[in-house]
Amino acid sequence: MPHARISSGLLAALLAAAGGSALAAPGGGPDVSRHQPQIDKIVAEISPKRIETYIHKLVGFETRHTMSDTTSDTRGIGAARRWIKSELERCGAGTRLQVAFDSHIAPVSARISRPTEIVNVVATLPGTQDASKDRMYVVSGHYDSRNSDVMDAEGKAPGANDDASGTAAVMEMACVMAKHNFDATIVFMTVAAEEQGLLGATHWAEQARQNNLNIAGMFTNDIIGSSRGDDGRVDDKQVRLFAEALPATKENNDVNRMLLQTGGENDSISRQLARHVKEQGERYVKGFKVNVIQRRDRYLRGGDHMPFLERGFAALRFTEPNENFDHQHQNLRTENGKVYGDLPEFDDFNYIAKVARVNAAALASLALAPASPREVKLRTDKLENDSTLVWTPNAEPDVAGYRIVWRETTAPGWQGSLFVGNVTEATVKLSKDNYFFGVQAVDKDGNVSPATYPSPKR
Ligand SMILES: [Zn+2]
Repeated sequence: MPHARISSGLLAALLAAAGGSALAAPGGGPDVSRHQPQIDKIVAEISPKRIETYIHKLVGFETRHTMSDTTSDTRGIGAARRWIKSELERCGAGTRLQVAFDSHIAPVSARISRPTEIVNVVATLPGTQDASKDRMYVVSGHYDSRNSDVMDAEGKAPGANDDASGTAAVMEMACVMAKHNFDATIVFMTVAAEEQGLLGATHWAEQARQNNLNIAGMFTNDIIGSSRGDDGRVDDKQVRLFAEALPATKENNDVNRMLLQTGGENDSISRQLARHVKEQGERYVKGFKVNVIQRRDRYLRGGDHMPFLERGFAALRFTEPNENFDHQHQNLRTENGKVYGDLPEFDDFNYIAKVARVNAAALASLALAPASPREVKLRTDKLENDSTLVWTPNAEPDVAGYRIVWRETTAPGWQGSLFVGNVTEATVKLSKDNYFFGVQAVDKDGNVSPATYPSPKR
């Protein structure tokens, strides 16, 4: 879809300084479209070969079912999680990466037949800027696996795609990115018990909520392993990125109500995050499309981003373009010459590396950028066709200013933008009846935050 490009001359005409606020030269400001050398370096370092090695190692534990053996050093989920932790410690040695288990006991439930220790492996790379280090971005994959019977803790369940692919991608990102500095904190997480009801991710997300952690974005990578669909079609040029509009809560909260009142249901925090991930992912991974699907997940299905969504955080899911259900949740077997089961021979390691690069580029750009502006409001005190936005200033010392972005109401992505300088109020000569607006913070290096959707200022 072509983007409406508005000339810089027209841009200048579109913008007028609001009373009392300073204004930078229209169209000026840091170059927000340039490649950050650090992100190019990270993307180049992500290795399909290492991802392949991780996946073969994970499959080698035979089953990683959540209720499988925890005492063996070679078989079952206990050996798998100890290996993941030791591998992250090894590659993070000499860096600031902090690796830990996050454990809890799950009581008996629909898919848990006895009280079971659920263990996430969490590698945290602390931010280096005082004003940003409390802001966190989380990336996850689930290392547990299953076969046809979700309660079968003994039978083989290689889980090469679901979800050794996501686990390996997260491990590779942690190892490559640990050598770099980011303003904000990045949490690389491999979680357990996804297949038993999202238990590992739910535990971590609930702790985050209770401790008031500032989780500014979360992605899960689940089934990112194969570029070949069940009809044999190969598509290694895109990944699906599932992004929710409004959470399906029983009762509307104030945020949902405001979005509905202003027609902003496509401007939820998850949709803003998806716009950012698409832009940054496609900038740094050439020839690869981030296909945003405007749904929380595949039709009525779920994943580890959902406990985050349910607690009010922005969260997204990455999944391959065409799933093959012969190689998902299936006992290993051959029927009528057809091989069933989630085996590494059906993975495409170059493809997984591309998805990992999209994740890494997005995480790095988010963690280098300032926070999204807070308290963004659209003035409504008088009826007029101009649109005046106000916001509170960011706290980061390297903020160069703010950028207003807009699009027509039926457009998925931003169509126009203008850097307005280091101000907290600006007027755009476009009607709020006909456009959606957002405000982004920009630092001196051109790192730009996801947009904040304005609420009405009454
Ligand atoms: Zn999965």
